[in-house]
Amino acid sequence: MASTVLVVDDERSSILLLANMLKEYYRVIVTTAGEKAIKLANDMLDIILLDVEMPGMNGYEVCTALKANEKTRAIPVIFLTGKDSEVDEYYGFELGAVDYVIKPFRPTLVMRRISNHISLKQKCDKLEYLATHDQLTGLHNRHHLLETASKKIAESIQQGFDLCLLVIDVDHFKRINDRHGHVCGDMILRAVASVIASCCRQEDLAARFGGEEFVVLLNHCGLEDGVVEAQQIRKTIELHKPHDIDVTVSIGISSRREVDDNFKTLFSRADSALYNAKNSQRNCVITELDDQLCYKQDVSTPTLHGDTVPLSGVKRLS
Ligand SMILES: [Mg+2]
Repeated sequence: MASTVLVVDDERSSILLLANMLKEYYRVIVTTAGEKAIKLANDMLDIILLDVEMPGMNGYEVCTALKANEKTRAIPVIFLTGKDSEVDEYYGFELGAVDYVIKPFRPTLVMRRISNHISLKQKCDKLEYLATHDQLTGLHNRHHLLETASKKIAESIQQGFDLCLLVIDVDHFKRINDRHGHVCGDMILRAVASVIASCCRQEDLAARFGGEEFVVLLNHCGLEDGVVEAQQIRKTIELHKPHDIDVTVSIGISSRREVDDNFKTLFSRADSALYNAKNSQRNCVITELDDQLCYKQDVSTPTLHGDTVPLSGVKRLS
């Protein structure tokens, strides 16, 4: 698909010239107003050509606003302007523009600069993806999890919202690899990851921690809701039978309780619960608090030492 270029200029003649030049190679969006440019930048854009002198918001202000917003920060901005002093050009770069072109410009050179910056942006995006995602499953990787989880946990302590952590491990994965081969083992990991991703909400963070172990951080979610979510994942995987192979997972859960909680403490408590799950029947969900309580069949009828007990206060996540 063609890359998208946004042209922002208050002079219609400039817009016409640029749009005609670009339209053969790119999808072109144009606007004469800086305020509108900021709104348009929220959609998928590959580059912005930005005039400086415009009524209302000028180009410098637009660039400052784009760079202050996490969603638009990475879009390359090229200033295209009549302001030709060294101070202006320097200021444009200071604001985070990737390039500064003075009008009247040479069309072939501007086209070359645009394609260079788009190609650089695509390479950066690819590197960013590779640095933060697990190659096999497409979930986030351990590096990204460790970086992001610490921030989320600190936020939950500061703002006082609930948060819990699931450690999910594929049961008897070595046996699957031994019986069906490693190619099949990889397919199972991808299938499990895809179930985990489909059960998560947008604000959750799912990652492959290593081998057959996955971690999910549930934002704004207490322990009881976390159990419901974990059950959903466990049951879906059990029913899914990827490639006709019986696959189950065990899940340990912890929730943010102490003011000095961090990823390490939460992970360690969830991992202990997982260890208990592995030492009991597997294919179950065990929390850090109720390590004798195995929620195997259904969350509404967990068995405590063999007896059916109601679990109060459990509600579906919105
Ligand atoms: Mg202008």
